[in-house]
Amino acid sequence: MPDPTVAPPLPHIAGDATALTAQQRELIGLAALLGREKFAPRAARWDREASFPFENFADLREAGLLGICVPKAHGGLGADFATYVMVAAELGRHCGSTALSFNMHVSSTMWSGFIADSLDMSVAERSDHERIRTIHFQRVVAEGKVYSQPFSEGGAAAAGKAPWGTLASRADDARGGYHVRGKKIFASLSGAADYYGVLCTLEDTVHGGGTLRDSIYLAVPADAPGVRITGEWDPLGMRGTVSRTLLLDDVWVPPEARLMPEGLYFQAAQRFPHMFATLSPTYMGIAQAAYDFTLAYLRGEVPGTPPVKRRMYPTKQVAVAEMRIKLEQTRALFLQTAREARVDPDKDARMRLLAAHYTIMENANDICRVAVRTCGGQAMLKTLPLERLYRDSRCGSLMLPWTAELCVDRLGRECLYEAGERDEAIES
Ligand SMILES: Cc1cc2nc3c(=O)[nH]c(=O)nc-3n(C[C@H](O)[C@H](O)[C@H](O)COP(=O)(O)OP(=O)(O)OC[C@H]3O[C@@H](n4cnc5c(N)ncnc54)[C@H](O)[C@@H]3O)c2cc1C
Repeated sequence: MPDPTVAPPLPHIAGDATALTAQQRELIGLAALLGREKFAPRAARWDREASFPFENFADLREAGLLGICVPKAHGGLGADFATYVMVAAELGRHCGSTALSFNMHVSSTMWSGFIADSLDMSVAERSDHERIRTIHFQRVVAEGKVYSQPFSEGGAAAAGKAPWGTLASRADDARGGYHVRGKKIFASLSGAADYYGVLCTLEDTVHGGGTLRDSIYLAVPADAPGVRITGEWDPLGMRGTVSRTLLLDDVWVPPEARLMPEGLYFQAAQRFPHMFATLSPTYMGIAQAAYDFTLAYLRGEVPGTPPVKRRMYPTKQVAVAEMRIKLEQTRALFLQTAREARVDPDKDARMRLLAAHYTIMENANDICRVAVRTCGGQAMLKTLPLERLYRDSRCGSLMLPWTAELCVDRLGRECLYEAGERDEAIES
């Protein structure tokens, strides 16, 4: 018989725990522990100050989680896509900014890791990639270095509709490597990352250069001459990501800065669409957190608030039921698509992935909206986390390359057209 005076345990972020692997259970448990004991109590500070959660990254480093997607052969935890996104969702449940910033770091290791492994490369390219990624993975695993992923530029490139405006040209001296110049906006972890994983257009390739196919993904050291961070950071939500503007003024990087072989990013973007779906798990966690808070608040169990129960009102019960239904719909899509991540998913899986990403981003904000309305005025004071969850949740569907609008755009078109299909011109 459960003790009626004790709050029930928090529900599992990844649904049925028996469906998880041993590693998934262990790592989600670790994220939950860090989240509950360290990240949640600190979250208001990063939000208030719009400052980076350095302490949380120190904890992630100590727990070995910076290497979560570094292959085991390179000393990492070797987590697959599904495992990582479940862990990311659990982190997002306790501190959205930490989870979103952590994602920028982990994605860098995932792209060079199991995503690169699943793509076509020549034997020479694969062996060179293995040599180079060993350097990057060692930095993460042995030195605790942090990578970020600034690709947004304020034009059409981050939506995948134009080549990157940030340019790389080959250095023509004995050192080799590349010269990089350009500007990245919304560079999360500005001033906190040790390396910025910058997507650029390579100017001089065998077929001329300058196109989307010529994308190159380079790790630019934060302390390289020519790297500068500018701009204010005082946004609505996700304030701890510190996503300022990164200026790259003819920055030289060595050949070993390549996080992927030349041209491989384009192949990855075509063949491994789940690579763009790693932002939404954070928001899955936020949706869960808003639901958790609402339950605790209506039961009169939020620490620091009077033990006033509000759960007996039918309108509250209806609202919680609506939230739970939306949460379960969101979680179901999240888990299904997490487990479908692979190279060359079929069209159905691609469409489902866009639908899932859209659903998580939009539902997270909607669940937070209902939570604020249902809990009422006292619950949205700054002393409680709900108003932060509400603001953080608003950011998800704005994030390129898969904003809510662009998901709808692509879904509508691709559901109705097969590759290469065109309509006859309509005569007026
Ligand atoms: C908290 C936070 C952290 C972020 N961190 C990072 C990061 O670490 N790295 C990074 O690279 N970026 C990051 N971003 C940036 C983000 O991914 C977007 O690039 C940014 O929000 C786009 O803002 P914008 O006003 O320039 O969008 P715009 O490009 O002006 O787009 C505005 C809207 O128009 C629509 N749109 C855009 N292009 C098209 C098109 N071709 N066709 C139809 N509709 C279109 C989209 O729905 C979009 O929402 C972050 C954003 C936030 C909010």
